Order: sequence, then C-alpha cells, then structure tokens
Amino acid sequence: MKKALFLDRDGIINFDHGYVSKIEDFDFNDGIFELLKLFLKYDYQLFIVTNQSGIGRGYYTQNDFEVLTAWMIGEFKKHNIEIQSVHHCNHAPETKCYCRKPETGMIDEILAEHSIDLQRSWMIGDKQSDIDLAHNAKISHTIAIGKREITNATLSFKTILECKRYLEENQDIISYEI
Ligand SMILES: [Mg+2]
Ligand SMILES: [Zn+2]
Repeated sequence: MKKALFLDRDGIINFDHGYVSKIEDFDFNDGIFELLKLFLKYDYQLFIVTNQSGIGRGYYTQNDFEVLTAWMIGEFKKHNIEIQSVHHCNHAPETKCYCRKPETGMIDEILAEHSIDLQRSWMIGDKQSDIDLAHNAKISHTIAIGKREITNATLSFKTILECKRYLEENQDIISYEI
C-alpha cells in the first residue's frame, strides 16, 4: 500500500484569487514545488481534490477547468513532479452532491483505483472543509494553511513556505522512519 498526499488546489497549489479559471490568473504558491518534492522523496503519491463550484454556478466552463488542469499538470512535469490524478466537484453547493468537500466522493474515486494506506497519508488544505474531508474519509494526518480559523488539523501554518521549511527541518514526521 502506498502513502498519499491529498491536496486542495486553490490556496494550496496556487494563490486563491477567487474562482481561478484562466492560466494567466494561476500563480503557483511560493514553495509548493519544493514541498511536493519533499513528499515525493518519501514515496507519496500526489492527488489533487478540488471543489470547483464555479462551474456549477456558471462562472466558467468544464472546458476552462480542463484546459487549466492540463496546463498545471504540464508545469508540474517541468519540475519532475507527477500528479497521479486531479479530481474535482463541479456542482453548486445546493446540489447536495456526494463529491463536494467535506463529502468523500472524490476520495472514494481515488481509493477505487489505488491501494492507499490512509493511516500514513496526509491531506493539506486551507479550509475547514478540507480538514473535515480528511476526517470523514479517515485520512489520518492533516495540514491547515492560511489565516482562517481551522480546528482539528494535525499541523497548521500561515503559508506553504512556512510548512515547507518546517517539514524540511522535521522530515521524520512524514518519513515514518522513527
Ligand atoms: Mg482551497
Ligand atoms: Zn459534486
């Protein structure tokens, strides 16, 4: 069984400017490439799970999202970072679907295709719904990023850069070598 790092997108991979749907508005977070490489060093598989209600709300299209996602995956490849898959919920909140975080539909999809050790896996997000998703899906460890009040996270940092620096200094936390 493999370890996994489940990643929120907006606010984690890229700065959250609000309903980001265009390449020119997609700014990678400072330190995100280095942070993901640290997890890759310890053989984690990387999955992105992202609520994209902007599609359901009609702010941008499914195609806009797919074009941006293909570009993003290409940018990661330039840094030798392989993303296993990107999962998104395109529903508006009132749809009451099973994929909008903190519901577990996106994680269920991933677990149907990959053998993952959830007890050695991590979720990183910037909203309570990301951390609640981890609890609902039984992903054991969580990292909350940003200035929002978030409860029940294993670790919390103001920025991705701060998180990266901490884990570089404390690699045993994710290596499970102790
Ligand atoms: Mg987010
Ligand atoms: Zn959904």
